Amino acid sequence: MININSIWSSALDKLAVEMPSSVSFEVWIKNLEPVCVSDNKLVLAAYSASAARHIEKNYSEIIDTCVVSSSGMLTGAIVIFADDKEKYLSKQEETLDGQFLINEKETDAISSTFIKKYTFDSFVVGQSNNFAYSAALAASENSGEKYNPLFLYGGVGLGKTHLLHAIGNHIKEKNPRAKILYVPTEQFTNELITSIRNSKDKDMTVEFREKYRNVDVLMLDDVQFLSGKSGSQEALFHTFNDLYQSGKKIILSSDRPPKEIATLSERLRTRFEWGLIADIQAPDIETRIAILQKKAQQENYLVENEVIKFIAERVESNIREMEGLLAKVVFYAPLLGKTSVDINVAREALRDYVGAEAKSHLIDADLIIDTVCDFFKITKAELIGKKRNKEIVEPRMICIYLITEILNIPLQTIGDLMGGRDHTTIMNARDKIAEKVKTVKRIKDYVTDVENLIYQR
Ligand code: ADP
Ligand code: MG
Repeated sequence: MININSIWSSALDKLAVEMPSSVSFEVWIKNLEPVCVSDNKLVLAAYSASAARHIEKNYSEIIDTCVVSSSGMLTGAIVIFADDKEKYLSKQEETLDGQFLINEKETDAISSTFIKKYTFDSFVVGQSNNFAYSAALAASENSGEKYNPLFLYGGVGLGKTHLLHAIGNHIKEKNPRAKILYVPTEQFTNELITSIRNSKDKDMTVEFREKYRNVDVLMLDDVQFLSGKSGSQEALFHTFNDLYQSGKKIILSSDRPPKEIATLSERLRTRFEWGLIADIQAPDIETRIAILQKKAQQENYLVENEVIKFIAERVESNIREMEGLLAKVVFYAPLLGKTSVDINVAREALRDYVGAEAKSHLIDADLIIDTVCDFFKITKAELIGKKRNKEIVEPRMICIYLITEILNIPLQTIGDLMGGRDHTTIMNARDKIAEKVKTVKRIKDYVTDVENLIYQR
Protein backbone atom coordinates (compact mmCIF):
# COMPACT_ATOMS: atom_id res chain seq x y z
CA MET A 1 0.00 0.00 0.00
CA ILE A 2 1.43 3.36 -0.82
CA ASN A 3 0.51 6.92 -0.03
CA ILE A 4 0.40 8.95 -3.22
CA ASN A 5 0.34 12.32 -1.51
CA SER A 6 3.58 11.78 0.29
CA ILE A 7 5.21 10.30 -2.79
CA TRP A 8 4.14 13.25 -4.89
CA SER A 9 5.31 15.75 -2.32
CA SER A 10 8.73 14.15 -2.20
CA ALA A 11 8.81 14.00 -6.02
CA LEU A 12 7.92 17.71 -6.08
CA ASP A 13 10.94 18.54 -3.92
CA LYS A 14 13.12 16.79 -6.44
CA LEU A 15 11.37 18.35 -9.42
CA ALA A 16 11.87 21.82 -7.97
CA VAL A 17 15.59 21.19 -8.38
CA GLU A 18 15.53 19.08 -11.51
CA MET A 19 13.27 21.10 -13.77
CA PRO A 20 15.13 23.19 -16.35
CA SER A 21 13.96 26.40 -14.71
CA SER A 22 11.98 27.55 -11.74
CA VAL A 23 9.48 29.15 -14.10
CA SER A 24 8.71 25.88 -15.84
CA PHE A 25 8.37 24.25 -12.45
CA GLU A 26 5.91 26.91 -11.27
CA VAL A 27 3.89 26.92 -14.46
CA TRP A 28 3.65 23.24 -15.33
CA ILE A 29 4.52 21.07 -12.40
CA LYS A 30 3.61 22.62 -9.11
CA ASN A 31 -0.14 22.45 -9.51
CA LEU A 32 -0.42 18.93 -10.80
CA GLU A 33 -2.72 16.87 -8.64
CA PRO A 34 -1.93 13.27 -7.70
CA VAL A 35 -5.01 11.18 -8.46
CA CYS A 36 -4.27 7.51 -8.04
CA VAL A 37 -1.98 4.72 -9.16
CA SER A 38 -2.69 2.96 -12.41
CA ASP A 39 -0.53 0.17 -13.82
CA ASN A 40 2.10 1.05 -11.25
CA LYS A 41 2.26 4.58 -12.55
CA LEU A 42 1.34 7.65 -10.58
CA VAL A 43 -1.56 9.42 -12.30
CA LEU A 44 -1.31 13.21 -12.20
CA ALA A 45 -4.05 15.58 -13.30
CA ALA A 46 -3.46 18.86 -15.13
CA TYR A 47 -6.03 21.65 -15.42
CA SER A 48 -6.42 21.44 -19.20
CA ALA A 49 -6.00 18.87 -21.91
CA SER A 50 -3.40 20.94 -23.69
CA ALA A 51 -1.41 21.41 -20.50
CA ALA A 52 -1.47 17.66 -19.96
CA ARG A 53 -0.17 17.10 -23.49
CA HIS A 54 2.51 19.74 -23.15
CA ILE A 55 3.74 18.27 -19.88
CA GLU A 56 3.73 14.70 -21.20
CA LYS A 57 5.64 15.77 -24.27
CA ASN A 58 8.28 17.88 -22.58
CA TYR A 59 8.71 16.73 -19.03
CA SER A 60 7.61 13.12 -18.80
CA GLU A 61 11.13 11.78 -18.47
CA ILE A 62 12.09 14.08 -15.65
CA ILE A 63 8.79 13.48 -13.84
CA ASP A 64 9.23 9.71 -14.20
CA THR A 65 12.70 9.87 -12.75
CA CYS A 66 11.66 11.93 -9.77
CA VAL A 67 8.59 9.82 -9.05
CA VAL A 68 10.56 6.59 -9.26
CA SER A 69 13.27 7.89 -7.01
CA SER A 70 10.59 8.87 -4.49
CA SER A 71 9.06 5.43 -4.49
CA GLY A 72 10.81 2.31 -5.69
CA MET A 73 7.37 0.69 -6.10
CA LEU A 74 6.25 2.90 -8.97
CA THR A 75 7.55 2.71 -12.51
CA GLY A 76 6.73 6.27 -13.57
CA ALA A 77 3.91 8.77 -13.95
CA ILE A 78 1.25 9.73 -16.47
CA VAL A 79 -0.25 13.15 -16.84
CA ILE A 80 -3.96 13.34 -17.68
CA PHE A 81 -6.57 16.04 -18.07
CA ALA A 82 -8.46 16.53 -14.81
CA ASP A 83 -11.80 15.79 -16.50
CA ASP A 84 -10.60 12.24 -17.16
CA LYS A 85 -9.92 11.55 -13.52
CA GLU A 86 -13.00 9.39 -13.06
CA LYS A 87 -11.89 6.96 -15.71
CA TYR A 88 -8.74 6.23 -13.79
CA LEU A 89 -10.30 6.31 -10.37
CA SER A 90 -12.97 3.82 -11.28
CA LYS A 91 -10.31 1.28 -12.16
CA GLN A 92 -8.71 1.77 -8.84
CA GLU A 93 -9.89 0.81 -5.44
CA GLU A 94 -9.07 3.49 -2.97
CA THR A 95 -8.61 2.25 0.55
CA LEU A 96 -7.71 4.80 3.16
CA ASP A 97 -7.13 8.46 2.65
CA GLY A 98 -4.63 8.68 -0.17
CA GLN A 99 -3.61 5.03 0.16
CA PHE A 100 -3.64 2.86 -2.91
CA LEU A 101 -3.00 -0.76 -3.49
CA ILE A 102 -0.58 -1.40 -6.24
CA ASN A 103 0.01 -4.32 -8.45
CA GLU A 104 2.50 -6.32 -6.43
CA LYS A 105 3.70 -8.49 -9.26
CA GLU A 106 5.74 -5.84 -10.92
CA THR A 107 7.47 -4.61 -7.83
CA ASP A 108 10.22 -7.17 -8.18
CA ALA A 109 11.43 -5.64 -11.44
CA ILE A 110 13.98 -3.87 -9.33
CA SER A 111 16.37 -1.41 -10.75
CA SER A 112 16.33 2.29 -10.12
CA THR A 113 16.10 4.96 -12.77
CA PHE A 114 18.79 7.55 -12.49
CA ILE A 115 18.64 11.27 -12.99
CA LYS A 116 20.02 11.73 -16.49
CA LYS A 117 21.92 14.90 -15.87
CA TYR A 118 23.80 13.60 -12.86
CA THR A 119 26.72 12.06 -14.70
CA PHE A 120 30.48 11.97 -14.26
CA ASP A 121 30.72 14.32 -17.24
CA SER A 122 28.55 16.95 -15.64
CA PHE A 123 30.46 16.70 -12.37
CA VAL A 124 33.14 19.36 -12.08
CA VAL A 125 36.27 18.00 -10.48
CA GLY A 126 38.44 20.14 -8.25
CA GLN A 127 40.75 19.60 -5.34
CA SER A 128 37.85 19.37 -2.91
CA ASN A 129 36.11 16.44 -4.57
CA ASN A 130 38.81 14.81 -6.66
CA PHE A 131 39.22 11.84 -4.37
CA ALA A 132 35.50 11.12 -4.08
CA TYR A 133 35.09 11.50 -7.83
CA SER A 134 37.92 9.08 -8.60
CA ALA A 135 36.67 6.60 -6.04
CA ALA A 136 33.14 6.74 -7.46
CA LEU A 137 34.42 6.30 -10.98
CA ALA A 138 36.59 3.35 -9.95
CA ALA A 139 33.68 1.78 -8.10
CA SER A 140 31.53 1.97 -11.20
CA GLU A 141 34.22 0.47 -13.40
CA ASN A 142 35.18 -2.64 -11.54
CA SER A 143 32.53 -4.95 -10.28
CA GLY A 144 34.68 -6.96 -7.88
CA GLU A 145 35.55 -6.55 -4.27
CA LYS A 146 37.83 -3.61 -4.70
CA TYR A 147 36.64 -0.53 -2.86
CA ASN A 148 33.72 -2.38 -1.36
CA PRO A 149 31.89 -0.81 0.29
CA LEU A 150 32.51 2.70 -0.93
CA PHE A 151 31.59 5.27 1.67
CA LEU A 152 31.24 8.86 0.45
CA TYR A 153 30.76 11.61 2.94
CA GLY A 154 30.54 15.39 2.89
CA GLY A 155 28.31 18.34 3.81
CA VAL A 156 24.92 19.20 2.39
CA GLY A 157 24.77 20.05 -1.30
CA LEU A 158 28.32 19.00 -2.12
CA GLY A 159 27.46 16.38 -4.72
CA LYS A 160 27.03 13.06 -2.93
CA THR A 161 23.70 12.25 -4.53
CA HIS A 162 25.03 13.47 -7.86
CA LEU A 163 27.91 10.99 -7.63
CA LEU A 164 25.64 8.09 -6.70
CA HIS A 165 23.46 8.77 -9.73
CA ALA A 166 26.58 9.13 -11.86
CA ILE A 167 27.67 5.66 -10.76
CA GLY A 168 24.21 4.34 -11.60
CA ASN A 169 24.14 5.99 -15.01
CA HIS A 170 27.64 4.77 -15.80
CA ILE A 171 27.01 1.14 -14.89
CA LYS A 172 23.65 1.16 -16.70
CA GLU A 173 25.30 2.50 -19.81
CA LYS A 174 27.79 -0.35 -19.89
CA ASN A 175 25.35 -2.95 -18.73
CA PRO A 176 21.69 -2.04 -19.15
CA ARG A 177 20.60 -5.21 -17.39
CA ALA A 178 22.53 -4.55 -14.21
CA LYS A 179 20.26 -4.47 -11.19
CA ILE A 180 21.16 -1.33 -9.36
CA LEU A 181 19.11 -0.13 -6.50
CA TYR A 182 19.40 3.45 -5.33
CA VAL A 183 17.54 4.13 -2.11
CA PRO A 184 17.44 7.14 0.19
CA THR A 185 17.95 5.78 3.71
CA GLU A 186 14.62 7.19 4.86
CA GLN A 187 12.90 5.12 2.20
CA PHE A 188 14.77 2.02 3.30
CA THR A 189 13.55 2.61 6.84
CA ASN A 190 9.97 3.30 5.74
CA GLU A 191 9.82 0.19 3.58
CA LEU A 192 11.11 -1.89 6.42
CA ILE A 193 8.41 -0.55 8.73
CA THR A 194 5.69 -1.12 6.12
CA SER A 195 6.87 -4.65 5.44
CA ILE A 196 6.82 -5.48 9.13
CA ARG A 197 3.39 -3.95 9.59
CA ASN A 198 1.92 -5.75 6.61
CA SER A 199 3.39 -9.14 7.27
CA LYS A 200 1.09 -11.58 9.01
CA ASP A 201 3.57 -13.93 10.51
CA LYS A 202 6.68 -12.49 12.01
CA ASP A 203 9.23 -13.65 9.54
CA MET A 204 7.30 -12.48 6.53
CA THR A 205 9.47 -9.55 5.70
CA VAL A 206 10.58 -11.80 2.88
CA GLU A 207 9.58 -9.39 0.17
CA PHE A 208 11.69 -6.68 1.69
CA ARG A 209 14.63 -9.05 2.02
CA GLU A 210 14.28 -10.29 -1.52
CA LYS A 211 14.15 -6.80 -2.92
CA TYR A 212 17.36 -5.75 -1.26
CA ARG A 213 19.32 -8.93 -1.70
CA ASN A 214 18.65 -9.54 -5.35
CA VAL A 215 20.66 -6.65 -6.63
CA ASP A 216 24.10 -6.26 -8.15
CA VAL A 217 24.68 -2.87 -6.64
CA LEU A 218 22.99 -1.34 -3.62
CA MET A 219 23.32 2.39 -3.05
CA LEU A 220 22.06 3.84 0.18
CA ASP A 221 21.98 7.63 0.29
CA ASP A 222 22.31 9.60 3.54
CA VAL A 223 22.97 6.74 5.93
CA GLN A 224 23.34 9.20 8.80
CA PHE A 225 19.56 8.76 9.07
CA LEU A 226 20.19 5.26 10.42
CA SER A 227 21.14 6.94 13.65
CA GLY A 228 18.88 5.76 16.43
CA LYS A 229 17.03 3.27 14.21
CA SER A 230 18.16 -0.09 15.48
CA GLY A 231 15.66 -2.09 13.39
CA SER A 232 16.93 -0.57 10.17
CA GLN A 233 20.51 -1.08 11.26
CA GLU A 234 19.81 -4.72 11.94
CA ALA A 235 18.13 -5.17 8.55
CA LEU A 236 20.96 -3.41 6.78
CA PHE A 237 23.53 -5.49 8.64
CA HIS A 238 22.08 -8.72 7.26
CA THR A 239 21.57 -7.27 3.80
CA PHE A 240 25.13 -6.01 3.85
CA ASN A 241 26.56 -9.40 4.77
CA ASP A 242 24.59 -11.20 2.07
CA LEU A 243 25.56 -8.77 -0.65
CA TYR A 244 29.15 -8.55 0.45
CA GLN A 245 29.59 -12.29 0.58
CA SER A 246 28.24 -12.72 -2.90
CA GLY A 247 30.62 -10.08 -4.19
CA LYS A 248 27.93 -7.46 -4.79
CA LYS A 249 28.73 -3.81 -4.53
CA ILE A 250 27.60 -1.55 -1.72
CA ILE A 251 27.86 2.21 -1.95
CA LEU A 252 26.92 4.49 0.90
CA SER A 253 26.73 8.22 1.39
CA SER A 254 26.51 10.26 4.55
CA ASP A 255 26.96 13.81 5.74
CA ARG A 256 29.61 12.63 8.20
CA PRO A 257 32.16 9.81 8.55
CA PRO A 258 31.01 6.48 10.06
CA LYS A 259 32.60 7.15 13.41
CA GLU A 260 30.55 10.33 13.84
CA ILE A 261 27.18 8.71 13.22
CA ALA A 262 25.70 8.53 16.70
CA THR A 263 24.25 5.24 17.93
CA LEU A 264 25.42 3.33 14.90
CA SER A 265 26.00 -0.25 15.94
CA GLU A 266 29.64 -1.14 16.15
CA ARG A 267 29.36 -4.06 13.72
CA LEU A 268 27.77 -1.85 11.07
CA ARG A 269 30.28 0.91 11.66
CA THR A 270 33.21 -1.44 11.13
CA ARG A 271 31.60 -2.75 7.96
CA PHE A 272 31.17 0.78 6.64
CA GLU A 273 34.88 1.19 7.19
CA TRP A 274 35.94 -2.04 5.46
CA GLY A 275 36.31 -0.61 2.01
CA LEU A 276 37.17 2.87 0.91
CA ILE A 277 36.10 6.06 2.66
CA ALA A 278 36.23 9.20 0.55
CA ASP A 279 35.28 12.68 1.65
CA ILE A 280 34.03 15.69 -0.29
CA GLN A 281 35.14 19.06 0.97
CA ALA A 282 33.65 22.47 0.22
CA PRO A 283 34.85 23.59 -3.23
CA ASP A 284 37.28 26.46 -3.68
CA ILE A 285 36.27 29.55 -5.64
CA GLU A 286 37.68 28.31 -8.97
CA THR A 287 35.70 25.08 -8.70
CA ARG A 288 32.55 26.98 -7.74
CA ILE A 289 32.92 29.19 -10.79
CA ALA A 290 33.51 26.18 -13.02
CA ILE A 291 30.40 24.47 -11.61
CA LEU A 292 28.24 27.52 -12.27
CA GLN A 293 29.60 27.89 -15.77
CA LYS A 294 28.80 24.28 -16.50
CA LYS A 295 25.34 24.68 -15.06
CA ALA A 296 24.68 27.82 -17.13
CA GLN A 297 25.82 25.99 -20.23
CA GLN A 298 23.67 22.96 -19.47
CA GLU A 299 20.57 25.05 -18.94
CA ASN A 300 21.30 27.37 -21.85
CA TYR A 301 21.48 30.39 -19.63
CA LEU A 302 23.13 33.43 -21.16
CA VAL A 303 24.93 34.78 -18.18
CA GLU A 304 27.90 37.11 -18.00
CA ASN A 305 30.98 35.79 -16.27
CA GLU A 306 30.90 38.64 -13.83
CA VAL A 307 27.54 37.38 -12.59
CA ILE A 308 28.89 33.89 -12.11
CA LYS A 309 31.75 35.23 -10.07
CA PHE A 310 29.37 37.40 -8.06
CA ILE A 311 27.32 34.35 -7.08
CA ALA A 312 30.30 32.06 -6.49
CA GLU A 313 31.70 34.58 -4.05
CA ARG A 314 28.52 34.61 -2.04
CA VAL A 315 28.01 30.93 -1.41
CA GLU A 316 30.91 28.89 -0.18
CA SER A 317 29.81 25.47 0.70
CA ASN A 318 26.45 24.49 -0.68
CA ILE A 319 26.35 23.98 -4.40
CA ARG A 320 22.61 23.48 -4.42
CA GLU A 321 22.14 26.89 -2.84
CA MET A 322 24.54 28.38 -5.36
CA GLU A 323 22.59 26.88 -8.27
CA GLY A 324 19.40 28.24 -6.75
CA LEU A 325 20.81 31.76 -6.79
CA LEU A 326 21.82 31.40 -10.42
CA ALA A 327 18.30 30.28 -11.34
CA LYS A 328 16.87 33.18 -9.38
CA VAL A 329 19.01 35.72 -11.21
CA VAL A 330 18.09 34.26 -14.59
CA PHE A 331 14.44 34.24 -13.61
CA TYR A 332 14.64 37.90 -12.61
CA ALA A 333 16.15 39.32 -15.79
CA PRO A 334 12.95 39.40 -17.89
CA LEU A 335 11.02 40.79 -14.94
CA LEU A 336 13.43 43.70 -14.92
CA GLY A 337 12.97 44.07 -18.66
CA LYS A 338 16.51 42.90 -19.41
CA THR A 339 17.41 40.56 -22.20
CA SER A 340 20.82 39.61 -20.89
CA VAL A 341 21.80 38.67 -17.41
CA ASP A 342 24.34 41.22 -16.25
CA ILE A 343 25.77 42.21 -12.93
CA ASN A 344 23.03 44.78 -12.30
CA VAL A 345 20.39 42.13 -12.62
CA ALA A 346 22.33 39.94 -10.21
CA ARG A 347 22.68 42.77 -7.69
CA GLU A 348 18.99 43.54 -7.90
CA ALA A 349 17.86 39.92 -7.75
CA LEU A 350 20.07 39.05 -4.81
CA ARG A 351 19.66 42.36 -2.99
CA ASP A 352 18.09 40.81 0.06
CA TYR A 353 20.14 37.67 -0.02
CA VAL A 354 22.32 37.20 2.98
CA GLY A 355 23.06 33.50 3.01
CA ALA A 356 23.25 31.61 6.25
CA GLU A 357 26.90 31.22 5.42
CA ALA A 358 27.57 34.89 4.94
CA LYS A 359 25.96 35.51 8.29
CA SER A 360 27.90 32.81 10.00
CA HIS A 361 31.14 34.43 8.88
CA LEU A 362 30.44 37.11 11.42
CA ILE A 363 29.67 34.57 14.10
CA ASP A 364 32.20 32.61 16.10
CA ALA A 365 31.98 30.15 18.96
CA ASP A 366 32.58 32.88 21.56
CA LEU A 367 29.63 34.87 20.31
CA ILE A 368 27.41 31.79 20.57
CA ILE A 369 28.70 30.94 24.04
CA ASP A 370 28.19 34.53 25.27
CA THR A 371 24.69 34.66 23.84
CA VAL A 372 23.70 31.39 25.47
CA CYS A 373 25.09 32.61 28.82
CA ASP A 374 23.20 35.91 28.59
CA PHE A 375 20.00 34.17 27.61
CA PHE A 376 20.07 31.62 30.42
CA LYS A 377 21.68 34.04 32.88
CA ILE A 378 24.62 31.85 33.75
CA THR A 379 28.35 32.53 33.59
CA LYS A 380 30.72 31.16 31.00
CA ALA A 381 32.62 29.33 33.74
CA GLU A 382 29.41 27.53 34.66
CA LEU A 383 28.52 26.81 31.07
CA ILE A 384 31.79 25.14 30.19
CA GLY A 385 32.43 23.78 33.68
CA LYS A 386 31.63 20.44 35.24
CA LYS A 387 28.38 21.10 37.12
CA ARG A 388 25.69 18.55 36.34
CA ASN A 389 22.50 20.27 37.50
CA LYS A 390 19.77 20.70 34.94
CA GLU A 391 19.91 24.53 34.97
CA ILE A 392 23.43 24.30 33.59
CA VAL A 393 23.42 21.05 31.63
CA GLU A 394 20.56 22.06 29.38
CA PRO A 395 22.06 25.41 28.31
CA ARG A 396 25.39 23.63 27.84
CA MET A 397 23.86 21.10 25.47
CA ILE A 398 21.91 23.76 23.63
CA CYS A 399 25.11 25.74 23.24
CA ILE A 400 26.91 22.72 21.78
CA TYR A 401 24.01 22.05 19.44
CA LEU A 402 23.99 25.65 18.21
CA ILE A 403 27.74 25.66 17.61
CA THR A 404 27.48 22.49 15.52
CA GLU A 405 24.50 23.90 13.63
CA ILE A 406 25.93 27.32 12.89
CA LEU A 407 29.65 26.76 12.58
CA ASN A 408 31.41 24.23 10.45
CA ILE A 409 34.12 23.21 12.87
CA PRO A 410 35.32 19.77 14.00
CA LEU A 411 33.63 18.19 17.00
CA GLN A 412 36.90 17.95 18.89
CA THR A 413 37.50 21.69 18.50
CA ILE A 414 34.08 22.30 19.99
CA GLY A 415 35.00 19.92 22.81
CA ASP A 416 38.11 22.00 23.51
CA LEU A 417 36.09 25.23 23.47
CA MET A 418 33.53 23.72 25.83
CA GLY A 419 36.01 23.10 28.62
CA GLY A 420 37.95 20.10 27.31
CA ARG A 421 35.22 17.60 26.51
CA ASP A 422 35.79 14.78 24.06
CA HIS A 423 34.14 14.54 20.67
CA THR A 424 31.68 11.83 21.64
CA THR A 425 30.28 14.03 24.43
CA ILE A 426 29.81 16.81 21.90
CA MET A 427 28.19 14.44 19.44
CA ASN A 428 25.79 13.06 22.03
CA ALA A 429 24.76 16.53 23.20
CA ARG A 430 24.19 17.62 19.63
CA ASP A 431 22.05 14.61 18.77
CA LYS A 432 20.07 14.80 21.96
CA ILE A 433 19.09 18.41 21.36
CA ALA A 434 18.49 17.75 17.66
CA GLU A 435 15.98 15.13 18.74
CA LYS A 436 14.38 17.34 21.40
CA VAL A 437 14.02 20.26 19.03
CA LYS A 438 11.59 18.06 17.14
CA THR A 439 9.69 16.75 20.12
CA VAL A 440 9.87 19.26 22.99
CA LYS A 441 8.39 22.66 22.30
CA ARG A 442 10.19 24.35 25.19
CA ILE A 443 13.59 23.29 23.80
CA LYS A 444 12.64 24.31 20.30
CA ASP A 445 11.66 27.77 21.58
CA TYR A 446 14.93 28.16 23.48
CA VAL A 447 16.90 27.25 20.40
CA THR A 448 14.96 29.61 18.16
CA ASP A 449 15.21 32.48 20.63
CA VAL A 450 18.93 32.09 21.17
CA GLU A 451 19.48 31.71 17.45
CA ASN A 452 17.62 34.93 16.77
CA LEU A 453 19.69 36.72 19.37
CA ILE A 454 22.88 35.39 17.79
CA TYR A 455 21.93 36.62 14.35
CA GLN A 456 20.94 40.02 15.71
CA ARG A 457 24.28 40.66 17.37
P1 ADP B 1 24.32 16.23 -1.62
O1 ADP B 1 23.69 14.93 -1.98
O2 ADP B 1 25.77 16.08 -1.23
O3 ADP B 1 23.55 17.02 -0.62
P2 ADP B 1 23.76 16.85 -4.37
O4 ADP B 1 24.43 15.71 -5.02
O5 ADP B 1 22.28 16.82 -4.30
O6 ADP B 1 24.36 17.13 -2.92
O7 ADP B 1 24.24 18.19 -5.12
C1 ADP B 1 23.54 19.40 -5.06
C2 ADP B 1 23.57 20.08 -6.40
O8 ADP B 1 24.90 20.50 -6.68
C3 ADP B 1 23.19 19.16 -7.55
O9 ADP B 1 22.42 19.88 -8.48
C4 ADP B 1 24.50 18.74 -8.15
O10 ADP B 1 24.39 18.48 -9.53
C5 ADP B 1 25.36 19.96 -7.90
N1 ADP B 1 26.77 19.64 -7.75
C6 ADP B 1 27.42 19.27 -6.62
N2 ADP B 1 28.72 19.08 -6.84
C7 ADP B 1 28.92 19.32 -8.15
C8 ADP B 1 30.07 19.27 -8.99
N3 ADP B 1 31.29 18.99 -8.52
N4 ADP B 1 29.89 19.59 -10.30
C9 ADP B 1 28.66 19.92 -10.78
N5 ADP B 1 27.56 19.97 -10.05
C10 ADP B 1 27.67 19.67 -8.74
MG1 MG C 1 21.97 14.08 -1.26
